Amino acid sequence: MRTRHNIIGIFALVVALAGLAGAWYLVSHRQAKVCPFSGRLIHAQARAVVLIGGHKYETCCVRCAIIEARQTGKPLRILKVADFETSKLIDPASAWFVESSEVNLCMRMSPEAESPGRESVYLRGFDRCSPSAFAFSDERQARAFIAQHGGALKRLADLEREAALAAGKVQKP
Ligand SMILES: [Zn+2]
Repeated sequence: MRTRHNIIGIFALVVALAGLAGAWYLVSHRQAKVCPFSGRLIHAQARAVVLIGGHKYETCCVRCAIIEARQTGKPLRILKVADFETSKLIDPASAWFVESSEVNLCMRMSPEAESPGRESVYLRGFDRCSPSAFAFSDERQARAFIAQHGGALKRLADLEREAALAAGKVQKP
């Protein structure tokens, strides 16, 4: 009888812990899911952790952070980027970036809002997540991605230069 009670007790505890874990996952997941700048859901393969003007943010992609830095003139430091292949956060200094490929996970996550019953209006314009820039820890994988989806191979210094451009710190012949 006593063992039986123990088993029931343990079972109840496991259920309670699973519930807590589930609730924690939902709460933390929801908080981490939206990019503070684009408002888009954060895709695990494209996300970045950055410092902009000394504040830390998790963004939907590196591009969104670069644009934010350019728009505000604040300095950008890219702390971590997701490896496109594994979704793990890696050191951007060792990453190989593929820029301007045909793939854009941010725009795929939140496509333009449709207006059913109305004619579509195609606006070719600015999107803060475009052109896309994905990170790869493995140069060969980055090159294989380019072979399949197009784009150009970049390093961290290239992206940092882009971030500084419109802030007016780098340019001027
Ligand atoms: Zn984005």
